[in-house]
Amino acid sequence: MYILGIESTCDETAAAIVQDGRTLISNVISTSVKEQALYGGVVPEIASRRHVEYISATVEKALADASMEMKDIDAVAVTFAPGLIGAVLVGVNFAKGLSYASGKPLVPVHHLRGHIAANYLTHPDLKPPFLCLVASGGHSHIVMVEDWCRYRVLGRTVDDAAGEAFDKVARTLGLPYPGGPSVSAAAKGGNPRAYHLPTPHVEGKYNVSFSGLKTAVINEVHNAEQRGETINVSDMAASFQERIAQILAKKLLAAAADTGAKVVCLAGGVAANGRLRQLVNDGVQKLGAKVYLPELKYCGDNGAMIAAQGYYEYLDGNIADLTLNGLPTLPIDYR
Ligand code: ATP
Ligand code: MG
Ligand code: FE
Repeated sequence: MYILGIESTCDETAAAIVQDGRTLISNVISTSVKEQALYGGVVPEIASRRHVEYISATVEKALADASMEMKDIDAVAVTFAPGLIGAVLVGVNFAKGLSYASGKPLVPVHHLRGHIAANYLTHPDLKPPFLCLVASGGHSHIVMVEDWCRYRVLGRTVDDAAGEAFDKVARTLGLPYPGGPSVSAAAKGGNPRAYHLPTPHVEGKYNVSFSGLKTAVINEVHNAEQRGETINVSDMAASFQERIAQILAKKLLAAAADTGAKVVCLAGGVAANGRLRQLVNDGVQKLGAKVYLPELKYCGDNGAMIAAQGYYEYLDGNIADLTLNGLPTLPIDYR
């Protein structure tokens, strides 16, 4: 089965074709990230406008790269939630039009389920049940993936998402948006023990919290400024990255140990972080479980992960009609 996946929840306009949820046929990503970087973050109205401009050519290119036409596609999968609503609606409406015109079924996909499914593209033998940390720009969840379309959330952030913390710390340190890659790059060669940053206390064994950590970085920077000193950006980036990676890995490993999970995965933009990957890889192996990490190119938003999850949603009977609407928020375990 060939699924065309369409994604437009943030600043990536993306389309891809995936066979049977596993095999990538084509993958096209258009992004407004350079323009967003001028403002230090995603401006929703700009994102929506660029989606409108890019989406038609992006989908056409995904088909052309695959040497396919709509008649060769079996279903159209689209991210319908959660995300910036003006951005989401561009993809949803485009997919509805395409589904109507081609007569192909329309499959609604939850964005975070898509992030998790990015792992299916890389690991042909991966199947539920497995434990997954989804850490992205807007979410940080520890989820038991019980079946292809069944999820149990064990823990989550009580305030900022991990990616958001990277983005805000980057801004405080004068590093460019998006913060994850720029903080990581600055951290290279920095001393992760140079600054002592707190591990926030949080209710709930698998919950995480990052707003106190972010504030601690801001305070260090302000205090240094008041003393007429400057922060060592590389050392601070390394110290922050070490602390946030330790917090995420520790919670995930605790959940893995307690649940006796045999397989543990990472997903979402923050899954691209080298230090987090290393800590999770080593920790999961020590537990005697298997660890699967998504390829770097599938960590950020893309259409392939939506097409991959779309395949399993389709098999599960999750097919929408033309009344499908986009939603700004929706729990991953919605039914
Ligand atoms: P969500 O998926 O929650 O709706 P989103 O789609 O905007 O949000 P993603 O595209 O999954 O988020 O991920 C983007 C986030 O990942 C950004 O916050 C970015 O800073 C972060 N990120 C990207 N690369 C890295 C990295 N190497 N280390 C840490 N964070 C990273
Ligand atoms: Mg993005
Ligand atoms: Fe995302």
